[in-house]
Amino acid sequence: MSLGLKAIQTIRDFDIAGKTVFLRLDLNVPMENGKISDETRITASLPTIQYCIEKGAKIIIASHFGRPKSADDKEYSLEPVGHRLSEILNAEVILIDEPDSDATKALLHTLRKNQILLLENLRFHPGETKNSPEFANALATNIDFYINDAFGASHRAHASIHALPEIMPKNSGIGFLIEKEVQMLDSLMHNPKRPYLAVMGGAKVSDKIDVIEKLLDVVDGFVIGGAMAYTFLKAKGHDVGKSLVETDKVRYAKEMIERIEVRGKTLLLPVDHVVTQNIADTAGAKTTAGVSIEDGWMGVDIGPTTIRHYAAALKEAGTIFWNGPMGVFETPAFAKGTFGVAQAIAESQAIKIVGGGDSASAAQASGFADKMTHISTGGGASLEYLQGDRLPGLEILRDKRRLNNQA
Ligand code: ADP
Ligand code: MG
Repeated sequence: MSLGLKAIQTIRDFDIAGKTVFLRLDLNVPMENGKISDETRITASLPTIQYCIEKGAKIIIASHFGRPKSADDKEYSLEPVGHRLSEILNAEVILIDEPDSDATKALLHTLRKNQILLLENLRFHPGETKNSPEFANALATNIDFYINDAFGASHRAHASIHALPEIMPKNSGIGFLIEKEVQMLDSLMHNPKRPYLAVMGGAKVSDKIDVIEKLLDVVDGFVIGGAMAYTFLKAKGHDVGKSLVETDKVRYAKEMIERIEVRGKTLLLPVDHVVTQNIADTAGAKTTAGVSIEDGWMGVDIGPTTIRHYAAALKEAGTIFWNGPMGVFETPAFAKGTFGVAQAIAESQAIKIVGGGDSASAAQASGFADKMTHISTGGGASLEYLQGDRLPGLEILRDKRRLNNQA
């Protein structure tokens, strides 16, 4: 069972007035043509930043941004993010290069109320991804408290996530975003409102096996779409044409189908599809009459009858966890299934939680994002958490002694 937030301090536990707080955020936002194309991660970080401002703390914000090869890779500068932050917060955001320089120290000394420091991309330093104690020491130089609110980065043992709080365990904790993420994801595993349906899709069964295994014990049924569906349909003996099938997972899918049936749970699979001969060919795409797909054709979305079936089931659900698009939703011609399911989830009275990077984008693109109970900013971290993996960024913050006393 997940330990949730047990024996982890939160920002509320600290008296941060007048103190310097290092806020590790996930500001790794997607960019298109030099512009931020989706601000979700910035918006999700605001409650903790605003709390620090209200309490009168001095703030150093830090984040990674993309995968720069070196500090010369200026396209990975956090500058545009700092600019956007200053607009939203109506504050001056000062970009600093070195956490432990004299300049940073001097800035902190004279920092005014409406000024915030933003440390340049953590990955400009090779020590970050190496979880280097030296780099962590540099980060720790000028700070009183460490707050991790970067849920999407907490599955990685990097210096700003792991080595840094390890140096200062008493003064380290989480922010409001991580708190909410963990509470929401935990609610999917402990006493979920029933019936509980997991909508699974996306590219590969193999990516999702651990999550499916975990969910098998708690959900009342699976609703399956995306490329993953073809491996299941193949396992049931259907013709799937040249759809993406993981041949080495067909056997697993077959066993999975049996295990779901033995437990008396629901398994919904597509009964029709949008198919094309070539993924780039949208004009030649068509809807199949039934479940079979002809040779030479590949399934790229669930069909209209399937959407109706899925929507009817989702309408009755008490809890919905959605991970994985129903089709190649990045192509508008193949997005109807994903958006239709997003709409059905949005219109359901259920507690509805979306996890996974592409699923979060799909939820945004569908226009129904604001109807979801929670869209995890976590991407991979949300799935790792759900499948029961301990996230290094959370575990390092757990006070082992307090945990043992509580147990
Ligand atoms: P998440 O990031 O939410 O966990 P995944 O990464 O598992 O989701 O899957 C998302 C990808 O799956 C999308 O890029 C989408 O185009 C792809 N996909 C969905 N359905 C199909 C399909 N039928 N054929 C090929 N790719 C698909
Ligand atoms: Mg993905």
